[in-house]
Amino acid sequence: MSNVTVIGLGIMGLPMAVNLVKAGHTVTGYNRSQDKVDALVAAGGNGASSVAEAVKDADMIITMVPDSPDVEAVVTGDDGVFANARAGALWIDNSTIRPDVAVELADAARAAGLRPLDAPVSGGEQGAIDGVLSIMVGGAKADFEAAEPVLNAIGRTIVHVGPSGSGQTVKAANQLIVAANIEALAEAIVFLEAYGVDTEAGLKVLGGGLAGSKVLEQKGQKMLDRDFAPGFRLALHHKDLGIVTAAARAKNVAIPLGSAVAQLVGNIVAEGDGGLDHSGLFTRVARSSGRD
Ligand code: NAP
Repeated sequence: MSNVTVIGLGIMGLPMAVNLVKAGHTVTGYNRSQDKVDALVAAGGNGASSVAEAVKDADMIITMVPDSPDVEAVVTGDDGVFANARAGALWIDNSTIRPDVAVELADAARAAGLRPLDAPVSGGEQGAIDGVLSIMVGGAKADFEAAEPVLNAIGRTIVHVGPSGSGQTVKAANQLIVAANIEALAEAIVFLEAYGVDTEAGLKVLGGGLAGSKVLEQKGQKMLDRDFAPGFRLALHHKDLGIVTAAARAKNVAIPLGSAVAQLVGNIVAEGDGGLDHSGLFTRVARSSGRD
């Protein structure tokens, strides 16, 4: 059993930390706002009042914050992870950030004596609660093998995909696939509703064929119910589509579908709905079809 520190106890970080407690690890949590630290303590974890305090005895440090600048803010500087963690500790960034930033931060972590892994996750809030996330891991193979027993407490499909940055590259591809799926599902549901089809029956049979997907399973009913509470906020998906469109452009990869859905997500965020779940893309499909 390990001393594990989790920094960032949001929609994903808190249930991940709770699953680590349930697996028998000693878990210390740090979060900017205190209420989430209190929730971890109530679930059997320990609270810390600074990053430095949280990481000083950790064998493994998990960061789970929104974006590249947020990860930089918690790991660098005198009060950050790199300056305060024990030499040899594993640093696992489960946040979704830019692959190039992941590579830079991994180099800085190694220079500080740490063992970095970029390990973004997929599976949503429910996957975090159930401990069944997919985790795509970049970094040294030996460090991956050292982290795997602990990652087993939060994920089910845990795969080493290459050197530092590779995990984030795979996650960018993941976000492209998910966004395109959500848009297609929203369009299909508005289409079915326009024809007065029994949509629950329709989704049931679609789910059993080639159109079936995790997106359909997790988001189909929410679209029928017009329940767009997050989950995964559109603002975060906007961030991720910015990552994939920039990274694709840097390698001259054409992603016309990805670019179109990136525009749609950008528009809905600009209109003030970035706090909706990403299934909230449905609202714009419905509106532009005169059916909201
Ligand atoms: P979230 O609910 O917004 O939680 C983010 C956490 O990070 C909050 O606890 C927040 O603290 C903290 N934080 C934000 N900025 C910070 C900063 N500059 N310094 C220190 N702490 C900071 O986000 P989430 O949905 O858990 O997502 C976290 C990461 O996982 C993102 O990279 C996201 O893309 C990825 N992800 C999310 C999902 C999902 O379904 N939600 C699925 C897969 C991957 P406060 O409480 O003080 O605001």
